[in-house]
Amino acid sequence: MSRLGLRRLRRMQSLIDSLLLPCCCACGQCAPLAVVDCAAVRVCRECALELIPALQQVPLLDFSERYACYDYAGPLVSLLSMAKDQPNSSQHYAVQDMFVAAATNIVKQKGVSEIIITQVPSSLRRSINGWYLPLAMARALSSKLGAKHLNLLRRRKQVVKQASLGAVERRINLHQCFTPARCQFTNIDPNATVIIVDDVSTTGASLREAVRCVKLMGYRQIMAISLAIAPLRSREC
Ligand SMILES: [Zn+2]
Repeated sequence: MSRLGLRRLRRMQSLIDSLLLPCCCACGQCAPLAVVDCAAVRVCRECALELIPALQQVPLLDFSERYACYDYAGPLVSLLSMAKDQPNSSQHYAVQDMFVAAATNIVKQKGVSEIIITQVPSSLRRSINGWYLPLAMARALSSKLGAKHLNLLRRRKQVVKQASLGAVERRINLHQCFTPARCQFTNIDPNATVIIVDDVSTTGASLREAVRCVKLMGYRQIMAISLAIAPLRSREC
């Protein structure tokens, strides 16, 4: 299908989505809906109970400013897997709003000004027709905070799928996989705070790599905020 055709199809999808009876973004039930944080997030009571944000600081080895907004469990798992594949769906907006609300809290608590927002760069596998959830989340956060959004990083090499790897293998796999986007090397303000956005983070291997790159560019204050944190699954064999 042509690119234009696909785009038209997607627009139709979101139109149909908006005409349907309101149902829970997470489990799809048309049960009584509760509203979480803002009116755009339609979640049933059951899911809302499990979607209570659990803001937490999850430091990495040599990097303490790493935050996660939710545990990657319960209804959030299905919500995220649908949001990753479907731009402009209710799942996408639900996830985006949940992230913006929680991340705004963290930024306000920290009291930082002069913010630059960026995201962990996408792999070819994950960005189809330019759609990439962390990029949408980063843009939404920057418009909420009135901060600058820049694509500071790009991917330098393709890596194998992380899900089947252990913590050490993940780090080796991701070693030097990001590089600063060439056009972003001018006008670096070392006093600005860079916020790196990601959707799900497990061991933090890709965030570490992103932080390392942003430091190399000359930024001194860096925060990483991911929507959810997943426990490292023991490998099935
Ligand atoms: Zn539900």
